Amino acid sequence: MKALVKSAAGPGFTLADVPVPTIRDDEVLIAVKRAGVCGTDVHIHEWDAWAQGRCRPPFTVGHEFAGEVTQVGRLVADVKVGDRVTAEGHIVCGRCHLCRTGNSHICPNTKIIGVDRDGCFAEFIAMPATNVWHLDDDISYEIGGIHDPMGNAFHTALHGTNLPGATVLVTGCGPIGIFAVGICKAAGASRIIASDVNPRRLALASQMGAHDAVQPGEAAAAVMKATDGLGVDVVLEMSGVPAAVHQAFALVRAGGRIQILGIPSKPMEIDLATEIIFKGTTVYGVVGRRMYDTWIQMTQFLRSGQFDPRPVITHRFPLEKHAEAIAAIKSGEAGKVVFEIG
Ligand code: NAD
Ligand code: ZN
Repeated sequence: MKALVKSAAGPGFTLADVPVPTIRDDEVLIAVKRAGVCGTDVHIHEWDAWAQGRCRPPFTVGHEFAGEVTQVGRLVADVKVGDRVTAEGHIVCGRCHLCRTGNSHICPNTKIIGVDRDGCFAEFIAMPATNVWHLDDDISYEIGGIHDPMGNAFHTALHGTNLPGATVLVTGCGPIGIFAVGICKAAGASRIIASDVNPRRLALASQMGAHDAVQPGEAAAAVMKATDGLGVDVVLEMSGVPAAVHQAFALVRAGGRIQILGIPSKPMEIDLATEIIFKGTTVYGVVGRRMYDTWIQMTQFLRSGQFDPRPVITHRFPLEKHAEAIAAIKSGEAGKVVFEIG
């Protein structure tokens, strides 16, 4: 089969001919139809310090996908050949303290497809049946293929927040930030302020329902105006940029909540006393998607029709055009980039 492979330690991807994966008794084989391209794939492509420390080539890249089941293992009971599915890409142990207390999104034994084992930028992928998520009939493979990053946004926006009527600041309008704007809107936030340095992405944030879509330098004024000088109830930090993290702490109201998804590229300083303690701020670190509360919420929001992620997808490529896909993400011009495979 055709697969996009990280063939050796060093920059780049290779489109290669590799064997179709074999499945274990508890796994299914899925013919991949659509696959989302993510910043993580860019890190692996560039072979940056994180990728060098984490990844062991050769392996097939890609972790966001949807497709059709073509084979099921002997022990699989609730997934059938022909099912339209996507999947949770974090494969967890199911047996550790965290898995057994409903916190498998932070299982220390997590293996990620396309990072720690073969991924989905290929004609077929093998997945444990427990990770498979069925798509509703009216959900396209394209939307199925971006459930992973949408799930990041659902997790960040909805876990422990109380959005109906809330005022929200979203710092960083990459694909996940833009999804989050639409989710906050659908969940009944009363005011959504989105910030980014990129005008193209601010336009997408407006399209998804942001009341104010502003440059970081204008965010403080927009927040104070919208909240009678109080600060927002909730900040979703989705940039990983230290200036935006500090802004999140500055613009949340006393007693408010900050959900941090963005990953800073290196350690950064926080003034615990003024930024967190004396403001009584609650900080929640977001990893992946909660299994499977986030998936249930995502499916139900999509079913309701109140959240429509389609405007976020701006670029589509065949696997052969992988260099163009990576370039589109690096340029900052793209919303979500998708490979059209099967
Ligand atoms: P992205 O890099 O496309 O988006 C980040 C956005 O932040 C960009 O649009 C950029 O222009 C903007 N930005 C830069 N400086 C800013 C500033 N000062 N204020 C506001 N915005 C600013 O990424 P994405 O794919 O949407 O992911 C968002 C973040 O989440 C990344 O840091 C990514 O690594 C991280 N991430 C975390 C998880 C997790 O499980 N925790 C999962 C996926 C992604
Ligand atoms: Zn575990």
